[in-house]
Amino acid sequence: MASHVFLVGFLAITCSIAMASDESPLQDICAADSIAMASDESPLQDFCVADLNRSVFVQADDLFFKELNLTSNTSNAVGSLATRVFVTEFHALNTLGIAMAGIYTPQNSSYEYVLRSLIQMERFLPLPAIPKPLFIVTPFLESHIQAAIKCSKEHGMQIRIRSGGHDYEGLSYISYQAPFIIVDLVNLKSITIDVESSTAWVQAGATIGQLYHAIAKKSLTLGFPAGVCPTVGVGGHFSTGGYGMMSRNYGLAADNIIDARLIDVNGRILDRKSMGEDLFWAIRGGGGASFGVITSWRLKLLHVPETVTVFTVNRTLEQNATKLVHQWQYVSGKIDGKLLLRLFLRRINSSHEGKETVKASFVTLYLGGIDTLLPLMQESFPELGLVRSDCIEMSWIDSILYFAGLRGEPLDILSTNTPWLTGTYFKGKSDYVTEPISETGLESIWKRFLKYPDEITDMQFSPYGGRMGEISKSATPFSRRAGTLYSIHYGVKWKEEGISAMNRRMRGIRRFYSFMTPYVSKNPRSSYLSYRDLDLGVNNKGYTSYEQASIWGLKYYGINFKRLVHVKTMVDPDNFLRNEQSIPPL
Ligand SMILES: Cc1cc2nc3c(=O)[nH]c(=O)nc-3n(C[C@H](O)[C@H](O)[C@H](O)COP(=O)(O)OP(=O)(O)OC[C@H]3O[C@@H](n4cnc5c(N)ncnc54)[C@H](O)[C@@H]3O)c2cc1C
Repeated sequence: MASHVFLVGFLAITCSIAMASDESPLQDICAADSIAMASDESPLQDFCVADLNRSVFVQADDLFFKELNLTSNTSNAVGSLATRVFVTEFHALNTLGIAMAGIYTPQNSSYEYVLRSLIQMERFLPLPAIPKPLFIVTPFLESHIQAAIKCSKEHGMQIRIRSGGHDYEGLSYISYQAPFIIVDLVNLKSITIDVESSTAWVQAGATIGQLYHAIAKKSLTLGFPAGVCPTVGVGGHFSTGGYGMMSRNYGLAADNIIDARLIDVNGRILDRKSMGEDLFWAIRGGGGASFGVITSWRLKLLHVPETVTVFTVNRTLEQNATKLVHQWQYVSGKIDGKLLLRLFLRRINSSHEGKETVKASFVTLYLGGIDTLLPLMQESFPELGLVRSDCIEMSWIDSILYFAGLRGEPLDILSTNTPWLTGTYFKGKSDYVTEPISETGLESIWKRFLKYPDEITDMQFSPYGGRMGEISKSATPFSRRAGTLYSIHYGVKWKEEGISAMNRRMRGIRRFYSFMTPYVSKNPRSSYLSYRDLDLGVNNKGYTSYEQASIWGLKYYGINFKRLVHVKTMVDPDNFLRNEQSIPPL
């Protein structure tokens, strides 16, 4: 039975005969391309051949060549074993009437397109030294993933799992450690909303924008608390946390997941019941890629009022920004959970010619109307001087467009997958703050920010408290709960080409991070997994000890790191699913 499943599954992924459906963004993939790719040097040559039952191939050959109108010369080019795999798959899947996975090797003209289409961190695009995958599999079915896992395992290839491709260090499409393939979930993006039970199933390749859009099409009073940028994939986002503008009222995306489907290292398809509570706990904030391929999530949808209010109030240093930011630290985590006052800090030209200043933007979502917001702000944060004309009432789904900088665009834009940071290189890091930074401290930070523009471009302060602080530190692997005032995100963006420009920015942001040490969390200094940062430490190429991994493991997961290691030891003792910052087994 096991070998049958393996064969069917494997064959599914090894076939790339123009299987992109009409809706697929990969429409230009043609059969000829797919076949030409399997040259003699192709890794497909001996890929899992041991399990192939040769007798079926003979039967399938005729049908295959007839359907594709191929000559016998073409078949030679394909390479005998690969051909047989293709042929059998074609036969088997046509008999069953189901879709086939795409598979792209470097010989395929679509390989570069497929690889690049979801590289959201452009700093990894131009570098020839960055290792590339042997091939990319784009499954349509869970069985294609089962096959990819089993075959990769057997042949010593690592797997990179990609949903939206936003990983800050490119770990969904780069491996520095071994020959690897990418399992790209771009074709697994169906979303089913059940308004009656306020639940949804969303496949891992969907983006949060597509999810928000699908919810709004069914109901204007249901929503989901996840991130701001619509192109972020639910596969990586939900498994690493997922903070957004409703998190003070509802927690993280990961806090609102009620079931999941995952394919484990043995190729088994598991749901919450069959995977057990330990593994289900681990994938909601512990990073999915250490534990399996998540194919879909079941979500608890949350109530949103018909009318929400947004505002963005900007204040520069000359307009008292330091005092306001100082005060914000005392207010933003304690105020009503329905109100999330996020703070963005940027450099802008000041009114004094030739000088720059810091602009603090208080960007806010309130789950209610202006009439209740104004007295709340007057009572809690009168210093900001919020007035009615600053506020805009709208639906929750329109607030998604507003915060994404897409106000006025049609809702359909949430379903597009256009890379977010096109033409810009980027590196990010993160911190947590547990004690308010003094006014003097803030002034030192502004001074440094203004003096060294190459170090960072902007900072975001995201308030915690509310529901974030009520959830227990061990409820999910995400441990920054009560006691955390806010998180800081540092970003540096640049457009200049070349390694030296990049290295300058990388060194710069590290210096800024070091400068921030006295102001942020300690023992350990914590970071947010969603903003992955390899500067915190990486696994060895071979064995990595618990102690070594603790260096970054404790920063991301705090008290939960140990349990994550235990779960990993239980579900993947041989450490097949590993990357530069995966959880090691004991
Ligand atoms: C422009 C931008 C905006 C962002 N905004 C926010 C925000 O508002 N709030 C916030 O909290 N975070 C935000 N993030 C961070 C984001 O949540 C993380 O980068 C997240 O991991 C991205 O998920 P992805 O699927 O797009 O990325 P991917 O690169 O595809 O995946 C990220 C990681 O998850 C793994 N993974 C992906 N899919 C699966 C799967 N199906 N099964 C198992 N493992 C999987 C990958 O292997 C990789 O290790 C933002 C990032 C960017 C670049």
